[in-house]
Amino acid sequence: MIRVRFAPSPTGSLHVGGARTALFNWLFVQHARRRGPDREATFVLRIEDTDKQRSTDEFTQVILDGMTWLGLGWDEGPLFQGEALQRHQDDAQRLLDAGKAYLDQGAIYFRVTHEEVAWDDAVHGPITFHGKDLEDFVILRADRTPVYNFAVVSDDSAMRITHVFRGDDHISNTPKQILLYRACGVPVPTFGHVPMILGTDGKKLSKRHGATAVADYQHEGILPQAMVNFLALLGWSPGGDRELFFDAAELVDSFKLEGVQRKAAVFDPQKLEWMNGEHMRHRGPAVLVSEVFKPADNVPHATALATVAAVLPRSRTLLDVARQARIRAGLDPATPDEKAAAAIAKDPAGYRAALQLAVLSLRDVADWSAEGLEARLRQLAEAHGMKAGALMQPIRIALTGATVSEPVNELLVVVGKDQALDRLTRAAQAR
Ligand code: GLU
Repeated sequence: MIRVRFAPSPTGSLHVGGARTALFNWLFVQHARRRGPDREATFVLRIEDTDKQRSTDEFTQVILDGMTWLGLGWDEGPLFQGEALQRHQDDAQRLLDAGKAYLDQGAIYFRVTHEEVAWDDAVHGPITFHGKDLEDFVILRADRTPVYNFAVVSDDSAMRITHVFRGDDHISNTPKQILLYRACGVPVPTFGHVPMILGTDGKKLSKRHGATAVADYQHEGILPQAMVNFLALLGWSPGGDRELFFDAAELVDSFKLEGVQRKAAVFDPQKLEWMNGEHMRHRGPAVLVSEVFKPADNVPHATALATVAAVLPRSRTLLDVARQARIRAGLDPATPDEKAAAAIAKDPAGYRAALQLAVLSLRDVADWSAEGLEARLRQLAEAHGMKAGALMQPIRIALTGATVSEPVNELLVVVGKDQALDRLTRAAQAR
């Protein structure tokens, strides 16, 4: 039987590192359930709220919401560490009674009798500690509250946790915890310490690197499927030359502890956005439409679908899709972005002249299709001795506010004849 836990402290929101730890625990359980010889596997969620000063119900809720958004369902919990105070005190008392701990100035100290503690880490292999890392330490403070290392051992053994997967930053706690397990006469779980996460500059990931909270990415228009795929590859590799796009089922299938890496992982937001683009295109326009348009927008479904399909190839986030699709659907104005404004400023008269020419010529196009429009636009440019771009780029800018988009003939189809002529006319007249 396998039992793992994710044990966040609700002293902040769910960050990338915590979410990655939660995901590895979740994947380990799901993989075991589907494939392992040990199919009975349980994922426990324990909220470590013993730091009453810094823990809040709001943070607990943010962590639960983040896990739910990512699809990391837990089987037991949330259990609250703070509710187990009595057991922590009883366990400490038992060690005291057995002479394995002693009282000093009101606090209970664990007596370290070992010179060396070693374990076979599921990620790092054999690890040994000795010397000053192994000195007597407090387990229950004078105010009768447990320290982290003690509460965690009391909880993990009460919950019959078999595997502890957590961040590398906890490696130095593990020898103390192993000594406590042994002193309490309970089985020592398997430990696996997953690698640190660094920013692209090689420094420990922090606020300086931009958004690190899972909720920030949710609000920036990242799909949970992409976030999960990206987090899985932070410190885990499928091996071989498998491509990096995974859905959750493929991750569950492929996830093995041997693939968890020792070296630190690098968090690259650009890669996350790229991956999100891939996941958005995999989901397809029909699925994304309801994320972009709300019923109150009153956009016909066919228009909504066509605008999303048009912008999807060039989008990296849902916000990109929404911004561009809503402009094409006429909900938002095509305000020129920086590059577009600069392009207009180079030759405002030429910009307006090209638009006027386009309006005059497109007005009587009967075949408003990509093919029909392409033929007409090419003829028009030729007839006036213009380069195609000199005609297309003003149209693109006027209809999208941007200097890159789908091909202009397709753009005109998506916007529709009446709307396109109307907006081009207004853009040609604007000063
Ligand atoms: N509450 C601890 C943390 O957030 C848990 C560490 C552990 O998994 O043992 O880092």
